[in-house]
Amino acid sequence: MSECIFCKIVAGEIPAGVIRVSDRFIAFADVKPVAPGHVLIIPKQHFGTLLDIPDSWGAELLTFTKAVASSLLDKKLGDGFNVVMNNLEPAGQVVPHAHLHLIPRKDGDGLRFVTKV
Ligand code: AMP
Ligand code: ZN
Repeated sequence: MSECIFCKIVAGEIPAGVIRVSDRFIAFADVKPVAPGHVLIIPKQHFGTLLDIPDSWGAELLTFTKAVASSLLDKKLGDGFNVVMNNLEPAGQVVPHAHLHLIPRKDGDGLRFVTKV
């Protein structure tokens, strides 16, 4: 997908704060973090939504997500975290390349999630 902004990040055509890379996934800092340490996890290959990611990639995605989340906790960016995924436009998906939001949380941080009103 030559016009996809996240594909361009994967290709190194757009700079990103890359945090972790595996065979199939990459994690980088969200450019508009809702909390310090807000990270996006995406498949390197272009898939539109969760529904398009192959089942056989599930274990790697889980392992990868857990590793990124653990490092956020280790770095004391949060004492907890949310994993949020917006799928398709009515649910608030803006970038049409599947991605998980990993959002560090702290007691009393006041964050509320409304992805689409
Ligand atoms: P969503 O609404 O789930 O599609 O979220 C898209 C997310 O991508 C938003 O949180 C944006 O801040 C983030 N985003 C958009 N462009 C970039 C970029 N070039 N680098 C990092 N994050 C981005
Ligand atoms: Zn893409």
